Amino acid sequence: MMAKALLIIDYTYDSVADDGALTCGKPAQKLENSLVELADKFYRAGDYVIFPTDGHTGDKFSPEYKLYPRHNIVGMPGQLLYGELKEWYDQHCDSDRVYQFNKNRYSAFQNTNLDNYLRERKIDDLWLAGLCTDICVLHTAISAYNLNYHLTIPTKDVATFTKNGQQWALDHFKNSLGATLV
Ligand code: ZN
Repeated sequence: MMAKALLIIDYTYDSVADDGALTCGKPAQKLENSLVELADKFYRAGDYVIFPTDGHTGDKFSPEYKLYPRHNIVGMPGQLLYGELKEWYDQHCDSDRVYQFNKNRYSAFQNTNLDNYLRERKIDDLWLAGLCTDICVLHTAISAYNLNYHLTIPTKDVATFTKNGQQWALDHFKNSLGATLV
């Protein structure tokens, strides 16, 4: 049987906290408890919990440099996971089924070893949670779709800046990427 992985994307201080550098604010803060519950559920079932985390160096050649204020700078407090999820990660990060890595594009597959990591472990079933539904979760879902992964989106565990963005992305996951919405 193939293993499953939960990807919790970009749930960082900068993306979630009221004073985060590029914050989704309240819609993101609402996910805190259910993300911890979901991480626990996967971990207890023997599945994987993966944290692809936006991480920038302030490089002016990054495409995000002109689009957003500086955010999720590698090694700064703003890039740390937020709240209870950080606690959960700190308690479980020594496990070989918990994996955090930095990414410098929206998609968790771009410029990273994620595809290789998943294939080595025979994981083909991905649950995508975190932020932002219509930016990094969306681009990660598109990459995963193109690489033939099965996708599930727990709709209560993704958030973004606008209601329209949320709804559009959920429709796209289902109708165009074949994802199961739960
Ligand atoms: Zn970024």
